[in-house]
Amino acid sequence: MGVARKESDNSRDWSLLWQPVRKYCKVTPHRIGLLERLNINTVYDLVNHMPTRYENWADIKAISSLENGLDQAIKAEVIRVPSLRRKGKFSTLSTMLSDGTDIIKAIWFNQPYYKDKLRKGDRFFLYGRVKRQNGFFEIVNPAFRPADSIDELSLLPVYPLTKGLTQAAIRGYVKECLPQIYSSLPDILPDDIVREERLVDLAEAYASIHFPKDENALAAARDRLAYEELFLVLAEFSLMKRKKAGRNSAYPIRMDREKAMIFKRKVDSLPYKLTVDQKRTINEIVSDMANKRPMSRLVQGDVGSGKTIVAALSMYAVALAGMQSIMMVPTSVLAEQHFRNLKSMFSDDDFSVDLMLGSTSASEKKAIRERLSSGRTRILIGTQAVLSEQNEFKMPALLVTDEQHRFGVRQRTLLLQRSGRDIHTLVMSATPIPRTLALIVYADLDLSNITTAPAGRPKIETYLAGQSDEDRVYDIVSRQLVEGRQVYYVCPSIESDEESDKVSAVELYETLSKGRFSGYRVGLLHGALKPDDKERVMHDFLSRKVDLLICTTVVEVGVDNPNASLIVIENAECYGLATLHQLRGRVGRGSYRSVCILKSAAESDKIMERLRFVCSNSDGFVLAQKDLETRGPGDFFGTRQHGLPALRFSDYHTDMPKMQRISKQVEAYIDLISESGAGSTDDLAALFELKYGAFRGRSSL
Ligand code: ADP
Ligand code: MG
Repeated sequence: MGVARKESDNSRDWSLLWQPVRKYCKVTPHRIGLLERLNINTVYDLVNHMPTRYENWADIKAISSLENGLDQAIKAEVIRVPSLRRKGKFSTLSTMLSDGTDIIKAIWFNQPYYKDKLRKGDRFFLYGRVKRQNGFFEIVNPAFRPADSIDELSLLPVYPLTKGLTQAAIRGYVKECLPQIYSSLPDILPDDIVREERLVDLAEAYASIHFPKDENALAAARDRLAYEELFLVLAEFSLMKRKKAGRNSAYPIRMDREKAMIFKRKVDSLPYKLTVDQKRTINEIVSDMANKRPMSRLVQGDVGSGKTIVAALSMYAVALAGMQSIMMVPTSVLAEQHFRNLKSMFSDDDFSVDLMLGSTSASEKKAIRERLSSGRTRILIGTQAVLSEQNEFKMPALLVTDEQHRFGVRQRTLLLQRSGRDIHTLVMSATPIPRTLALIVYADLDLSNITTAPAGRPKIETYLAGQSDEDRVYDIVSRQLVEGRQVYYVCPSIESDEESDKVSAVELYETLSKGRFSGYRVGLLHGALKPDDKERVMHDFLSRKVDLLICTTVVEVGVDNPNASLIVIENAECYGLATLHQLRGRVGRGSYRSVCILKSAAESDKIMERLRFVCSNSDGFVLAQKDLETRGPGDFFGTRQHGLPALRFSDYHTDMPKMQRISKQVEAYIDLISESGAGSTDDLAALFELKYGAFRGRSSL
């Protein structure tokens, strides 16, 4: 494919990119629907639908040298008439091929019409996953092309698909559309950087990422796109930081002597003493909020370290000043729990605490809104509903998010600025982030770390159990229940489905509540329950009316029951280490000896090693680091928790040195633009929004 060089940069008209795919090539309405399922609406979406891997048709192997388990290409002759077997709507087509070095069996499932294409005596290129066992070769569902096809053999892209769409279809669309928009691809990299870094031209990069001539061209394309991606993301961080520096319209929260006394009394009335770290963090927050410059503070502390009380007291300081706080959490289960605690903690104070969820009734919402606009309610807690445009606050001063997406927070912060006022923000996170990374991506956030757990916390003992240990596990559960403790039993799925043998919560609930644990109060909690039912079960569990809680990962974050001493996690192999650590953190919150049992039927050494690592490590930071190392690039453990944009060509961990270098270039570039007035940073922000923003419902964050 020829690449037209970009002539100039001054046409900033990106509107072409918003055009639907059908403007550039023929697509049937049915296929349009399928593309939409892949989030491909515009032609720009299409060319940014990146291959996940490539079929290497150029590297033809001799059959005798094929390796077991790899995708490989061969060139061979059909030596037997293909045979087709049908069973209902299913079919199996098989034949034998030879290339003179050996023979191989090829099998296709449910592709009966290939029979006529594979005539005996014809030669083909085939590409697919090879099985080599006891000297026999087999290739399953290979792609094939006639050996005399004039197409150049090459690396063919393999795209993420949806049912009904083929690789050939997407390849065709990209091949047709891409050349038509080369000159409108938004190019944000400054020329001298492109030169200095020896990057290939943007159009060439797009051409080669989809249809690389060879491995070198592919590597060059990846380099360019990776560079641009990091440049863009880092520019966004830098712009945020700069914007914040110029802001000074948040409500200052001032504590006079009298308020400080009331505050101290509240602290003294707590059933425990604050740890040194908690005190320090609260002081940092209170002194940040005394300014008009909006606070942006991230509080990091491992599960169970006591972050909630820090948030609660920060909100109390705001309430004492007569202003309002909003606390947003990821699940309604967690919102309810926080609500109950805050309500009882502030029952003697002269303001109200309200809870707003998506499921809150319209009349209730109306009543809450009245209290918000009159200022009667000084603490509003809930899920995203708390940021509804219809909520009008009298004096919103503080936004707290517990385990929430950073970028979500930013957008909503902007939303709140409708009032023309900025807001102090406090982010609570249990997922630690490596320091070097934090310095770059959180450059605009101040950090508080809670490193010491409250005194008297037991170490949570963690054990592995196999499928055959089921009875022993139930014995351990019984023993805890007999002693009056409570138990979580976490399942990976809600209902059983035929395709997987994973344990389902509904099924297990049926079995255990009627069978082995019929003498106990067994509860069932999962995301598909009605909000009222969820709240009732959770409430029953927290008030000890339920002994054994069969649940899904809805309890992953935040749920706090100090009487729970055992958590059993079924199919533990399904989760990342950070998630297992979070789940484990549901126990060991009181003074009881606490145990976490990871159940797994998995046999792979790698999985067992990972699980054993959880057993022997109780430090969330170490586990997160391990997650990073074992989970391949592009799958950064904390991307979701931290709300960082998901990188496609780079990795927050392994590309750290590169990020540090690019970060310097970004700063210099933005300085230059803003000092010389030579241009604006609008393009950077706009492209960031286009690629990583919640653009038309697409959430890459
Ligand atoms: P997380 O940091 O995971 O959000 P929580 O805030 O839910 O942790 O606190 C876990 C438990 O520890 C709660 O039951 C809380 O009441 C308790 N807690 C918090 N601070 C202290 C403290 N200083 N001393 C004893 N217990 C505390
Ligand atoms: Mg918490």
